[in-house]
Amino acid sequence: MDSSAMNLVLLGPPGSGKGTQAELLKERLGFVHYSTGEVFRDHIARRTTIGPKVESFVVSGRLVPDEIVLEVVNAFLGEHAGQSILFDGFPRTIRQAEGLDSVLTKHDLRVDKAILVDLADDEVVKRLTARRQCRACGRIYNLSFKPPKHSGICDVCGGQLYQRKDDTEQTIRDRLSIYHTQTEPLIKFYANQGKLQRVAGELGRDRVYEEISGLLAGVKDR
Ligand code: ADP
Ligand code: ZN
Repeated sequence: MDSSAMNLVLLGPPGSGKGTQAELLKERLGFVHYSTGEVFRDHIARRTTIGPKVESFVVSGRLVPDEIVLEVVNAFLGEHAGQSILFDGFPRTIRQAEGLDSVLTKHDLRVDKAILVDLADDEVVKRLTARRQCRACGRIYNLSFKPPKHSGICDVCGGQLYQRKDDTEQTIRDRLSIYHTQTEPLIKFYANQGKLQRVAGELGRDRVYEEISGLLAGVKDR
């Protein structure tokens, strides 16, 4: 096991740019990017036994029940514990956070840091209604500030761009209200442990990345 390995939690409302930052941190710093949302969409697309159990939740933007979430996370950690992992979109409830702590403890690990990428609700709605994703490679575009060169087509792989079913205005409002009631308590949970740092999500991709990578320097030395 690599002793400099780090377990990092990315918190923030949907659309704050967590996924984009996670991809950058993976490419540049070698983190394993673990997005429970991507994992669930993949189960649905591949029609695994988990797929039908989570589909109605994911499509409507409600939270998948904690037991199912913890089951997939457990399986993932069975293979990857000890690597530097970036948790994106997990944990989303206090129970999930406690579940994560207890699995990590079994591996003699812990959450080292939680970074909140914050963004106001109106900005979230603006961003998400304009979000499109490549069906083939998963790359994310935004019709207002990062449009593809050719409408509907991925710049990188030529795949087809689509709008997630949960990226409609009403579903986004519902996801935000779930975020405020169920996930926001985690801010205090990690702040109380001295692990929380905040970054302003409206700064834009590159500035947010600089801030986050700055926060990570030396985490393990303290
Ligand atoms: P976003 O953060 O942009 O809303 P995600 O891709 O993280 O999108 O999640 C999409 C959906 O997957 C959520 O709305 C929810 O239904 C489900 N989901 C993802 N992660 C979790 C989790 N940790 N707990 C419960 N449900 C989850
Ligand atoms: Zn693509």
